[in-house]
Amino acid sequence: MNILVINAGSSSLKYQLLNPETQQVLAKGLCERIGIDGKFTYKPEGKEAIKEADVAMPTHNEAIKAVLDALVDSKNGVIGSMKEIDAVGHRVVHGGEKFAKSVLITNEVMAAIEECNPLAPLHNPANIIGIKACQALMPSTPMVAVFDTAFHQTMPAAAYMYALPYEYYENDKVRRYGFHGTSHKYVTQRAAAMLGKPIEELKLISCHLGNGSSIAAVDGGKSVDTSMGFTPLAGLPMGTRCGDIDAGILQYLMNKYSMDINQMLNVLNKKSGVEGLSCVSSDFRDLENAAAEGNEKAGLAQKKFAYEVKKFVGAYAAAMGGADAIIFTAGVGENDKVVRAMVCEGLEYMGVELDATSNDVRGKEAVISASSSKVKVLLIPTNEELMIAIDTAALAK
Ligand code: ADP
Repeated sequence: MNILVINAGSSSLKYQLLNPETQQVLAKGLCERIGIDGKFTYKPEGKEAIKEADVAMPTHNEAIKAVLDALVDSKNGVIGSMKEIDAVGHRVVHGGEKFAKSVLITNEVMAAIEECNPLAPLHNPANIIGIKACQALMPSTPMVAVFDTAFHQTMPAAAYMYALPYEYYENDKVRRYGFHGTSHKYVTQRAAAMLGKPIEELKLISCHLGNGSSIAAVDGGKSVDTSMGFTPLAGLPMGTRCGDIDAGILQYLMNKYSMDINQMLNVLNKKSGVEGLSCVSSDFRDLENAAAEGNEKAGLAQKKFAYEVKKFVGAYAAAMGGADAIIFTAGVGENDKVVRAMVCEGLEYMGVELDATSNDVRGKEAVISASSSKVKVLLIPTNEELMIAIDTAALAK
């Protein structure tokens, strides 16, 4: 079965054609600057990536058309015709409380996704444009929506409610939703396979540490808490996002610098996090280099990040009454042994013993704790596209 996975943003679109049974990726790539000057990247399996600039892509329709043309191209294509695409899986950021699982897209589902637009105004409308563009070009191919929020719909009310007047939940749906669900689901399933135990028997702390970062407490395969909230701004400090801060800071800074709420949120989303704190970069490689050269703010940003991750690990062990394993994934989690070591340092009291030699690894599945460690520490590269393809194949069958 060949599944086309689409992750549509407002001016970009990532795609992958893969077979979820064999896990073979036939081709993947990226359409960028849609509506501007169209850049197209296409990488067929086993061949060099092809990059084209100034590709006419006034809308997502032309971008999808470019993807389909490349996939069936006589020279660099990987399939004979579009009929060999059995289904399309779309990443959708917000499913609100309506979607606790992936779903086959119908007119009713489209309407329900549109109703979630106010909850993710930057992301959901772009995801919907991607779905509509595919439907226009492949009207008889089944389409599936896979939501970033769905995996966290199992959280208990005590975890997802904010201590705000109840009416804001009832009338306005203000609650914790959580994101990165597809990633947390994938790596926790892989963790169970690596540990050779049924996921129902495991308490797992999944640390998705990338440009955007979140942690999830996954008990028996179900998310019971997560660090992102109503929006992806909450929880850990990230590349440029502040994470949890005192809401009173907003009033103080807005008054002092005559900022409106949009300017304030721009600071919190785009100028904060490790970049804001370090005054160096949002990229952990730059922080590490700068810290090694004696830049104190870069060192502080790294420490602050690792400290907050550690606090969530402790909190989620408390929430679940223990942990069998801690998982590191995404750009920082998969590649940065320094951050992993900083997070695990001092957690020996709860049975976490990182092994320095095993931790000296990047980007592949590995147990990085000592054999005597009561709580296993695992490095698991995430694969959201594969997870989307697996869900899509199951629903399209
Ligand atoms: P996104 O949230 O955009 O999907 P990723 O999960 O791809 O982000 O993570 C990107 C981040 O991973 C980079 O900004 C960088 O901080 C970090 N990263 C990537 N490679 C390394 C590395 N070798 N060492 C440390 N950090 C790395």
